[in-house]
Amino acid sequence: MATPKRKVSHARTSQRKAKWLGSLSSPVTMSCPKCGEVTLAHHACPSCGFYRGHQVVSKKEEAAG
Ligand SMILES: [Zn+2]
Repeated sequence: MATPKRKVSHARTSQRKAKWLGSLSSPVTMSCPKCGEVTLAHHACPSCGFYRGHQVVSKKEEAAG
Protein backbone atom coordinates (compact mmCIF):
# COMPACT_ATOMS: atom_id res chain seq x y z
CA MET A 1 0.00 0.00 0.00
CA ALA A 2 1.22 3.49 -0.82
CA THR A 3 2.80 5.38 2.03
CA PRO A 4 3.50 9.13 2.32
CA LYS A 5 7.14 9.81 1.52
CA ARG A 6 7.66 12.26 4.39
CA LYS A 7 5.68 13.49 7.33
CA VAL A 8 3.46 16.55 7.03
CA SER A 9 5.07 19.46 8.85
CA HIS A 10 3.33 21.42 11.58
CA ALA A 11 3.18 24.43 9.25
CA ARG A 12 1.39 22.44 6.55
CA THR A 13 -1.05 20.96 9.08
CA SER A 14 -1.89 24.34 10.59
CA GLN A 15 -2.30 25.91 7.15
CA ARG A 16 -4.76 23.20 6.17
CA LYS A 17 -6.71 23.53 9.44
CA ALA A 18 -6.81 27.33 9.17
CA LYS A 19 -8.26 27.09 5.68
CA TRP A 20 -10.87 24.54 6.81
CA LEU A 21 -11.89 26.57 9.85
CA GLY A 22 -12.06 29.71 7.72
CA SER A 23 -14.57 28.00 5.44
CA LEU A 24 -16.80 27.24 8.43
CA SER A 25 -17.01 30.82 9.64
CA SER A 26 -19.38 32.04 6.91
CA PRO A 27 -22.64 30.07 6.54
CA VAL A 28 -24.04 29.74 3.02
CA THR A 29 -26.92 32.14 2.60
CA MET A 30 -29.33 32.70 -0.27
CA SER A 31 -32.27 34.97 -0.95
CA CYS A 32 -35.72 33.40 -0.81
CA PRO A 33 -37.24 33.19 -4.33
CA LYS A 34 -40.71 33.79 -2.85
CA CYS A 35 -40.24 36.76 -0.53
CA GLY A 36 -36.63 37.81 -1.13
CA GLU A 37 -35.52 37.42 2.48
CA VAL A 38 -31.96 36.25 3.16
CA THR A 39 -32.15 32.65 4.36
CA LEU A 40 -29.80 29.81 5.11
CA ALA A 41 -29.30 27.40 2.21
CA HIS A 42 -31.10 24.04 2.56
CA HIS A 43 -33.43 25.52 5.18
CA ALA A 44 -37.04 26.62 5.01
CA CYS A 45 -37.44 30.40 4.80
CA PRO A 46 -38.13 31.76 8.30
CA SER A 47 -40.18 34.60 6.82
CA CYS A 48 -42.67 32.82 4.53
CA GLY A 49 -42.08 29.13 5.33
CA PHE A 50 -41.32 28.06 1.76
CA TYR A 51 -38.61 25.59 0.81
CA ARG A 52 -37.95 24.54 -2.83
CA GLY A 53 -41.28 25.92 -4.01
CA HIS A 54 -43.39 24.21 -1.38
CA GLN A 55 -44.86 25.59 1.82
CA VAL A 56 -43.34 23.44 4.54
CA VAL A 57 -44.05 25.71 7.54
CA SER A 58 -47.50 27.20 7.82
CA LYS A 59 -47.60 30.98 8.27
CA LYS A 60 -50.83 32.85 8.84
CA GLU A 61 -50.04 35.88 6.70
CA GLU A 62 -48.92 33.74 3.74
CA ALA A 63 -51.69 31.11 3.88
CA ALA A 64 -53.19 32.08 0.50
CA GLY A 65 -49.87 32.12 -1.38
ZN1 LIG B 1 -39.40 33.51 1.98
